[in-house]
Amino acid sequence: MSDNRIRRIVIVGGGTAGWMSAAVLARFARVPGSALDTEIELIESEQIPTVGVGEATVPTIRVLNAVLGFDERDFISKTQGAIKLGIEFRDWIHPGSRHSHFFGDFGASIEGVSPHHHWLKLRQLGDPTSIYDYCLPAVAGRMLRFVPPAPDHAGEASAYKYAYHFDAGLYAQYLRAFAQSRGVNRREGKVVNVELRGEDGFIKALVLEGGQRVEADFFIDCSGFRGLLIEEALRTGYVDWSNWLPCDRAVAAPSQSGGDFTPYTASTAQKAGWQWRIPLQHRVGNGYVYCSRYISDDEAAATLLVNMDGKPIIEPRVLRFVAGHRRKIWNRNCLAVGLSGGFMEPLESTSILLIQTCIARLIEMFPDRTFDPAMIDEYNRISLNEFERIRDFIILHYHATQRDDAPLWQYVRNMPIPETLQHKIDVFRSCGRVALLSEESFLEPSWVSIFVGQGIIPRRYDPIVDAIDVEKLRRGMQQRRERIRKIAEAMPTLREFVSRHWPAA
Ligand code: FAD
Repeated sequence: MSDNRIRRIVIVGGGTAGWMSAAVLARFARVPGSALDTEIELIESEQIPTVGVGEATVPTIRVLNAVLGFDERDFISKTQGAIKLGIEFRDWIHPGSRHSHFFGDFGASIEGVSPHHHWLKLRQLGDPTSIYDYCLPAVAGRMLRFVPPAPDHAGEASAYKYAYHFDAGLYAQYLRAFAQSRGVNRREGKVVNVELRGEDGFIKALVLEGGQRVEADFFIDCSGFRGLLIEEALRTGYVDWSNWLPCDRAVAAPSQSGGDFTPYTASTAQKAGWQWRIPLQHRVGNGYVYCSRYISDDEAAATLLVNMDGKPIIEPRVLRFVAGHRRKIWNRNCLAVGLSGGFMEPLESTSILLIQTCIARLIEMFPDRTFDPAMIDEYNRISLNEFERIRDFIILHYHATQRDDAPLWQYVRNMPIPETLQHKIDVFRSCGRVALLSEESFLEPSWVSIFVGQGIIPRRYDPIVDAIDVEKLRRGMQQRRERIRKIAEAMPTLREFVSRHWPAA
């Protein structure tokens, strides 16, 4: 039998995507004697900067850290990290509004029925309690408090999730140290040409400035928005989603630490987009994501500066993008991971998540040198479904606004939306069910947070709720709320917790 194992992988790009890919491959693909026993090299060029933003994550990152064996204290200390329990959205529904998406549910189901149905019944009976009062991370987050969940406790204290805010540059360095210590070879060099094989158009070699040739069986394109291999060499094509996600630029500038040390990302709607605030230990990340049809770069930068806490540390930097994805994330012997594969604005911090899932899927569906098209098609099918589900979730935030005070908001309110999203909205409005599809990154509590938060309220609740005596239900729900409030009040503030347990290195 011939040995078709992949012998050598080359990753192009040393941003978050490149070093995350290298770290995961180093963990799994360097097992001597296995089908995954490959040599791994990463090429990056100091002449071409990384995008340098990407500071907010979702809880799945903790799975990656566990798989890589990272010690949480060391990780947070060395990345100047902090905690993210969710996102608070300000002014999204109308100026002055607040709603949120925190990483927790609204309590355990009762009689097999999700808690938001019980909340809905009480609401219909006149109870004004906010649904977020049943979500521990939301309650703790708004008090600026945090402790990690306690697995040995029962109930709410054990059940919530959290993610991180960190310095993107330090994160890439952290991953790099891990990957290099496990045998990944780093080569400094600028790729100036890509040689394709005549017979099938597969990538044969990369040519670096100075003429060096670098060959491999498999290439991972982490070269950023330009897609050096997947697009410039392989002409894969791009599916453009800017009709649904019209924001196409961001201006970013970190500021000195100042203001509240919030255990959440703040997202504040602005005239032509929205502004993020991400507190780290040593500074605050700020940026304004906007649609260039409705505001100039200068005006966007001025808005950012006026609305940030503290003074900017560097001049605001403008980044350009087009929402969408490559027609194929994996084409021939090239997989595009990170910005080279596609991009959706960072409203729900999904880019690093997508890097993680793309690379995890590669490990699950690791090729050999036959590059079976059936397997590649399946990889692409799953990946594109995942992209589309996130796309729908982000569109929901825009479409379900009541704002009509600026052209962007008028556009997104009235634009036609994907059928898959329209179906989800219709089903939820009708009966409170969340019609999840396959490859959803965000599950029922996340969708409920945004539906309810943005005023999409079901007409009826699950009829099984009526089988519970209403007074008993009221008491039970009130006890839940009080339990949650007490747990949150007993937590230290995030600042106290971080300085005691995870101070910056
Ligand atoms: P890059 O960081 O652009 O790295 C590209 C690499 O390729 C560099 O090392 C460069 O040197 C190398 N390279 C390019 N050309 C060549 C060449 N010819 N030869 C050699 N090397 C080359 N994601 C989140 O999850 N959360 C967030 O909060 C978040 N916020 C964001 C905000 C904005 C405004 C933007 C634009 C993105 C945000 N993202 C966020 C996305 C996140 O920043 C990226 O997914 C992540 O940084 C990965 O980038 P990358 O590694 O694909 O590309």
